[in-house]
Amino acid sequence: MISFSGVGKSFGDNHVLRELDLDVAAGEKVSIIGPSGSGKTTILRLLMTLEEPDSGLVEVDGEPLWDRRGGAVADTRGQAAVRRKIGMVFQHFNLFPHMTVLNNVALAPVQVLGMSRDDAEHRAVDLLRMVGLQKHLRHKPGQLSGGQQQRVAIARALAMRPKVMLFDEVTSALDPELIGEVLAVIRDLAHTTAMTMLLVTHEMRFAAEISDRVLMFDSGAVIESGPPSKIFEEPQHERTQRFLKAVL
Ligand code: ADP
Repeated sequence: MISFSGVGKSFGDNHVLRELDLDVAAGEKVSIIGPSGSGKTTILRLLMTLEEPDSGLVEVDGEPLWDRRGGAVADTRGQAAVRRKIGMVFQHFNLFPHMTVLNNVALAPVQVLGMSRDDAEHRAVDLLRMVGLQKHLRHKPGQLSGGQQQRVAIARALAMRPKVMLFDEVTSALDPELIGEVLAVIRDLAHTTAMTMLLVTHEMRFAAEISDRVLMFDSGAVIESGPPSKIFEEPQHERTQRFLKAVL
């Protein structure tokens, strides 16, 4: 479903990704862990076309999203269609503050997918019920807690029926007592849907619980990967051992 081959990305002299190869199968739930500044978020931002790679090929669902082999650039119309298969939830919720919760979730399906207003609202209500916010449809984001806002953001991403969901440290900006409710929603999705999920997270226990595979990332490369039992209980790489000792 997701394939990076030979992907490089620099910001000036800072080589953030080095010849990255990474494959995620359809339906797979993969967590990326590793130290701050190692390039984890950049991977997700490339998939969202918020950043461009300098080299290599990124494919989603068998179609090119970025083709920078030999400097060629993928056709941008094709790119938009591929990009639409992906939904993302950010650390900061980025909801539209002046719109109701319901409108935040119903807007893009109407504007981007051309869904009727009625259908989009019905679907938004279903999704908001699923994340436990059916009582807040008419509220504005500012009236909700951080955990509730993040659940709206998850419903909003799901409203576009993505094949792939990306989660970028979605609990980092939350008060500790609000983290559980957001993780519960993601855990539910992981266990009940066939969506491909790629998560950058500092929540090691959560990663262990929901992931099929964990990737340990350092200095722009995957240094170790495997099922959670292997990465968390018998890490092979010295860097992984040191990282886990510091965060667990
Ligand atoms: P992580 O998610 O592992 O913390 P990031 O992918 O956010 O790492 O960042 C990797 C490196 O790239 C960091 O050194 C960061 O400062 C740098 N970086 C990320 N985005 C930009 C940008 N837009 N401009 C310049 N440097 C950036």
